[in-house]
Amino acid sequence: MRLFEAIINANHRAVAGDENAGLHPADFADELPIVALTCIDPRLNALFPNVLGVPADQFIWLRNAGNVITGPLSSTTRSLSLACAIKGGKEIAIIGHTDCLVGKTTTMQLLERLRALGIERHLLPDNINEYFGIFGSERQNVIKAADIVRQSPLIGPKIPVHGLLVDIQTGKLEWLVNGYQSFQTMSARWDEVVKSAGHTVDALKSLSNFNIGEMKFPETKIGETVTKAEDWLADKVHQLKPKALEAIPEAAPATPPKIPMPAPLRPRMRLNKGK
Ligand SMILES: [Zn+2]
Repeated sequence: MRLFEAIINANHRAVAGDENAGLHPADFADELPIVALTCIDPRLNALFPNVLGVPADQFIWLRNAGNVITGPLSSTTRSLSLACAIKGGKEIAIIGHTDCLVGKTTTMQLLERLRALGIERHLLPDNINEYFGIFGSERQNVIKAADIVRQSPLIGPKIPVHGLLVDIQTGKLEWLVNGYQSFQTMSARWDEVVKSAGHTVDALKSLSNFNIGEMKFPETKIGETVTKAEDWLADKVHQLKPKALEAIPEAAPATPPKIPMPAPLRPRMRLNKGK
């Protein structure tokens, strides 16, 4: 069983009331840590990483409003890339949630709210929905985000990219995009690239979103460029073969001081409630 199959399995069992549901992180040492992108909604603070059943120290957590991916080279995609490259993330999960306000807010409401903050319409980009990544369907938003990340040249073909939706009331996960499936498709395409040595450049062109025409190769005589491109590609394919990476040294996490919370302002709240 692969990691996210075990995660979904444990989650569904736990939601159904099985107190013994859970996964053993030691069984998935090669697939941890995971990298998750979720919304900024504070209601999620108590849900993660518990609903996934993975330990907090194996959970690399990225957040933005609406868990949106605006493009294959966007700031969030760059962070996902670094989370894998530097922090050793093995699998990516885009995790949307039910009752997401980014999905429920209309363009008119958003403009009103922004105006209340002193941000006038003419200061904002024309296509405000696209700009902020406002979406109509939480599911479609996750599927789209997983697709963009999957195709991003910053992520590459080795990292499975999943799409999930968490029910904010129950914590139940829905697996919308199985990253292992698209991962296989991607790997198969890379295998084709390796096999068709003489047609490497054409095969590479078939990889979605991979525009070799825009890649910079050293200026050479006409006819030499293709050879160079093939050399470059052979090198890239070689690098794709799994090899042990040297760990980047880092300090162990510190134990943060416990900051006491001030007493809640109960009397005032009661006053307001009484009205
Ligand atoms: Zn949200």
